[in-house]
Amino acid sequence: MNTNELWHAVLGELELTLSKANFTTWFKHTFISQVDENSVVIGVPNMFTKAWLEKKYAKSILQSLQELSSGSIKNLTYRVEARPAVPQVVPIFEKEKVVEQVPSYSQNAPYNQNYQGAGEVKEIRTGEFSLNGKYCFGTFIVGKQNELAHAASQAVSAQPGGVYNPLFIYGGVGLGKTHLLQAIGNELMRKNAATKILYVTCERFTNDFIGALRSNRINDFKNRYRTVDVLLVDDIQFITGKEGTQEEFFHTFNQLYQNNKQIVISSDRPPKAIPALEDRLVSRFECGMLADVGSPDFETRCAILDTKCREKQYILEREILHHVATVVQTNVRELEGALNKIIAFHQFKNTKPSLETIKPILTSFQPASIRKSVTPKQLIHTVAIYFDIQIEDLLGKSRQKRLAFPRQIVMYLMREEMKSSYPSIGTELGGRDHTTAMHAYDKISNCLLEDEKLQHDLELIKQKMYSM
Ligand code: ADP
Ligand code: MG
Repeated sequence: MNTNELWHAVLGELELTLSKANFTTWFKHTFISQVDENSVVIGVPNMFTKAWLEKKYAKSILQSLQELSSGSIKNLTYRVEARPAVPQVVPIFEKEKVVEQVPSYSQNAPYNQNYQGAGEVKEIRTGEFSLNGKYCFGTFIVGKQNELAHAASQAVSAQPGGVYNPLFIYGGVGLGKTHLLQAIGNELMRKNAATKILYVTCERFTNDFIGALRSNRINDFKNRYRTVDVLLVDDIQFITGKEGTQEEFFHTFNQLYQNNKQIVISSDRPPKAIPALEDRLVSRFECGMLADVGSPDFETRCAILDTKCREKQYILEREILHHVATVVQTNVRELEGALNKIIAFHQFKNTKPSLETIKPILTSFQPASIRKSVTPKQLIHTVAIYFDIQIEDLLGKSRQKRLAFPRQIVMYLMREEMKSSYPSIGTELGGRDHTTAMHAYDKISNCLLEDEKLQHDLELIKQKMYSM
């Protein structure tokens, strides 16, 4: 593996954990500038990228490099420099639309088996808002858990603004919501390139709105959002509590809806369960079609792996494929991540995967019951970071709600996930009485029955904690 291939393998892993925008922004012009036995210098285009990578991604980059180099790489530094000559990227301009071939690690077919990475990445841009060509209906695998959402998405692309308006797709992370939204956009674009399609994350919508207010350009904003044929809004749950944005979105929605323009929304939960969402928006979201996506069953997981292997032209024996599908149960993103890891590892070693060699690779994907153990300290640390509070405060005496509630969550999780005794939970949390721990456990258990936001918080905390 040369440096180019090594870097492409690292990027392949990172790409799976980041949003497309993030990935493109921070890694597009990076490369390995220098490498020796135990250190790597990454070339970056500017100081800003350097600072950002140092701050945000140093750990994950180093981790990938270490895995791929079998642990020999210990140091990672960054240097601002231009990338040495690489094949030029030629954007093709057509009217207002730019179709661009993004230089992707996947195009270099770095490995012996003609590795295709996570598939060809083609980005179609309408103004600033990008659709990723790899998310199309052709690459979407349909199983029981997503057939409704899939069928509705196809219906929408056949007849936008028709019966399924708005289409509201919801379900957990990594289950294909973004894929479906983008597939709708890509399909409509394919049928008629003049269709004005806007794909945005809720975050993007919010930031645009705030930016427009600040710079006195609210009319531009309205123009942009209210004149499209199709508006695709990803992860709408983040609109929670943002009153001004909700108000603006409400008007955008109405305007488009009245003109029979199609609106497709995704969320990690159904409209009613989004906390602090205005009733009038809930009822708007519910007036079209609601479709959920669930976790794939074993057969679908096998089908997904099988297809991804084919796309990547990689051969995985049936027995091994089944093993991966048995171990990785959570979502499709993890399934893909596991497969990419297996491929990268074996191509680096130039060996064929076997049950023996894939097992260690899969440990981080195992379900909760057989996950690695986490210490109370790590749990406390994770919760403190999640709620953005100091560990001393979390363990301290203050009863302020912003501290007391996370503290109760720690106690609940210690009991639930680590099976700690109540007295030992009390001790870990700064010498509290065991009855306090019991009370906390009961309280959080009760809240969890009704509070979907809390369920979601705990899910995220567990994900973080087990991936430490
Ligand atoms: P979500 O938006 O629900 O968090 P994504 O749409 O980002 O999930 O999906 C995560 C990854 O899994 C993507 O690479 C996507 O292409 C892939 N994926 C999800 N569901 C499917 C599916 N049914 N068939 C093929 N790939 C899928
Ligand atoms: Mg998504």
